[in-house]
Amino acid sequence: MKLADNVKHLDTMAVVKDEPKKGFSFHKKTISTNLQRGEVLVKVLTTSFCGTDYHIYTYDDWAKGRLKLPLTVGHEFSGEIIKVADDVTRVTIGDIVSAETHIICGTCEFCLRGEGHICENTKIIGVDTDGCFARYIKMPAANCFVNSKDVNPLHLSVQEPLGNAVHTLNHFEVKGKSVAIVGCGPLGLMGLDVAKAYDARQIIAIEVNEYRRALATKLGADLVINPHEEDVIDTVLKATDGRGVDVVAEFSGNKTAIEQAFKYIKAGGGMSLLGLPTEKITLDLANDIVFKGIHIYGVVGRLIYDTWHEVKRLIESGKLHLDDIITHQLRLQDINEAAEIMGSGNCGKIVMVPEDDIRE
Ligand SMILES: [Zn+2]
Ligand SMILES: [Zn+2]
Repeated sequence: MKLADNVKHLDTMAVVKDEPKKGFSFHKKTISTNLQRGEVLVKVLTTSFCGTDYHIYTYDDWAKGRLKLPLTVGHEFSGEIIKVADDVTRVTIGDIVSAETHIICGTCEFCLRGEGHICENTKIIGVDTDGCFARYIKMPAANCFVNSKDVNPLHLSVQEPLGNAVHTLNHFEVKGKSVAIVGCGPLGLMGLDVAKAYDARQIIAIEVNEYRRALATKLGADLVINPHEEDVIDTVLKATDGRGVDVVAEFSGNKTAIEQAFKYIKAGGGMSLLGLPTEKITLDLANDIVFKGIHIYGVVGRLIYDTWHEVKRLIESGKLHLDDIITHQLRLQDINEAAEIMGSGNCGKIVMVPEDDIRE
């Protein structure tokens, strides 16, 4: 669909954080269709709920320190381009896109050496600029990733977090290896599915929530550990002939879980860390890192665009089980319900679809 030239403004319902307290409001916003150089206007088809959105919903210390209200939230989406600025050549009207949510500067030391994922001037949509939990969003064309029109739009909205999971699982080779997935929230479940698609030999999932342990089992984990009931280090060592796992993919951010992982990772192994701990971690650097000769990798976002191409390849390969990982589909106006479900932990990925009607 092309936007008619005479349309200068569009009304959209949007999920807005406008007050410094728990919750979101859902109300009408009018946006100008004027575009800056390099921008495109996207009609949002599907969005998904992220742990970051939950921090914004509860308005925790991180959110208080980072956000400038009012803010339209949300960063994970797929949509159709309906207008492009005159200078845009990279994408075109009618393209079905998802978006790299980190807007990078392109000129800092890191961008210039091809490591835009650690750009020192990164802005995140739905955090630092207005986001996608609305019918329309303006994006830099450079952030748009063009998808095949045959793929289920529900699957396209989760490419961005899937990219995190792929980035976490493909830094170290997992094919034929034993892998621990620490934390089976939506990202951990995606990581598990990716490890499986990469033919890991043995996958051990560690998760406190029963609903998510059941999902981990369904996705094919060889061993699922409840850390509240079992001794994690012992159980992992027993399952790996006493040597531990080759690769740890850390999604939990939990202090105890991270400290345990350094005890059951095999010498020479690789640890990818994505979860963000809120507490200081205590490590035996000499024995658990230096003498074991392990490698540690911090996962920030996605490699732009290497990870995206790999995500696309994996989705099109048919090896992933996104329909199992997407456990809930809601309307965008049910955003507070989505947040509460996320907070309960009894979910995989939650996808939300905006509806066209404007309600006053
Ligand atoms: Zn996210
Ligand atoms: Zn930069």
